[in-house]
Amino acid sequence: MSDIFVVVEHRLGEIRDITFEMLWKAGELAEKLSHSVTAVLLGHEVDPLAQNLSDRADTIIIYDDERLKSFNADLYKQIIAGLIEELKPPLTLMGSTSWGMELAPCLSVKSGLPLATDCIDVIPKNGTFMAQRQMYNGKIFSNVSFADAPGCLVTVRSGVFPKDKLGDRQAQRVQKDIPSADMKPGKEFKEFVETAAGDVDITQAELLISVGRGIGEEENIALIKEFAEALSGVVSCSRPIVDKNWLPKYLQVGTSGKSVSPKVYIAIGISGAFQHMAGVSGAGTIIAVNKDPKAPVFRTAHYGIVDDLFKIIPVLKEKILAVKKG
Ligand SMILES: Cc1cc2nc3c(=O)[nH]c(=O)nc-3n(C[C@H](O)[C@H](O)[C@H](O)COP(=O)(O)OP(=O)(O)OC[C@H]3O[C@@H](n4cnc5c(N)ncnc54)[C@H](O)[C@@H]3O)c2cc1C
Repeated sequence: MSDIFVVVEHRLGEIRDITFEMLWKAGELAEKLSHSVTAVLLGHEVDPLAQNLSDRADTIIIYDDERLKSFNADLYKQIIAGLIEELKPPLTLMGSTSWGMELAPCLSVKSGLPLATDCIDVIPKNGTFMAQRQMYNGKIFSNVSFADAPGCLVTVRSGVFPKDKLGDRQAQRVQKDIPSADMKPGKEFKEFVETAAGDVDITQAELLISVGRGIGEEENIALIKEFAEALSGVVSCSRPIVDKNWLPKYLQVGTSGKSVSPKVYIAIGISGAFQHMAGVSGAGTIIAVNKDPKAPVFRTAHYGIVDDLFKIIPVLKEKILAVKKG
């Protein structure tokens, strides 16, 4: 039995969703291959974080040290490379996030293991693994194999796997010390700067109200914003809306935008091009409003309303507000 490593990502005392998504995938692979799941947790005073992971991994390896208070790729690289050398996991998962994008390449160099980045799946193959990536902005899927390497590193795109618990695990905690007391990072953490007020992270939203070119004019976006507010949801959009500068780029869903995994995704005036729908593969329920019954979005949507959005959305908004009023 081998361990599949998941590098735990956390920020300001909270585990990031990408960690739960990777643990889900690691759990699925572990079940298929009779492997075990090991969460690798680096930080300072991380007991509460370990508690949150205890039923999702078989082992939690913890490095708790003042010097790990903030993420530092230099230190992480040295520690995790040492752990990989010691335990030889066949697969190490990291998030395709700002953390993972900094850590994974230098960990690959340090450990000598091959790396596939921004993957949307990991598939077992002949006793080893194959990673699936999208190329040419989602037009082509490529399968990456790692030949005869003794292990591999994979960064995982956020939003492609569920963040639910898979199976019931009881993690054993293993505390470890930083290998070398005089380990010195080449860079230093200065400060964490929150995104500006009003900025939202659509990858974390549970309810997204997404608007497409069917909205017609910039001033009509207000209708979608009001609808989202009535539902306590977050607005996102398709690419043409960003191209026209009607909404900012960080709200764009799709292959050249963000992958999202809300519980509910409402697509309004969006045709459902594959570059858009690739970004919503992690959504729970998809509801589409489109006046064209042949719009591709209806192939994926769980529920659909074939009608003019300018007729439907104001009525839905009023009904929701009436229900809220009681
Ligand atoms: C390399 C590349 C990367 C791309 N990346 C992305 C990406 O990340 N995200 C993305 O979204 N797109 C992306 N695209 C663009 C993508 O191919 C589509 O062009 C885009 O998703 C279409 O956006 P849309 O659905 O809003 O507009 P359209 O395709 O124009 O669809 C508008 C829809 O609104 C409906 N409609 C019109 N009026 C009404 C009304 N009054 N009531 C109800 N429905 C109405 C129409 O029937 C139509 O289906 C990419 C393209 C390329 C080439």
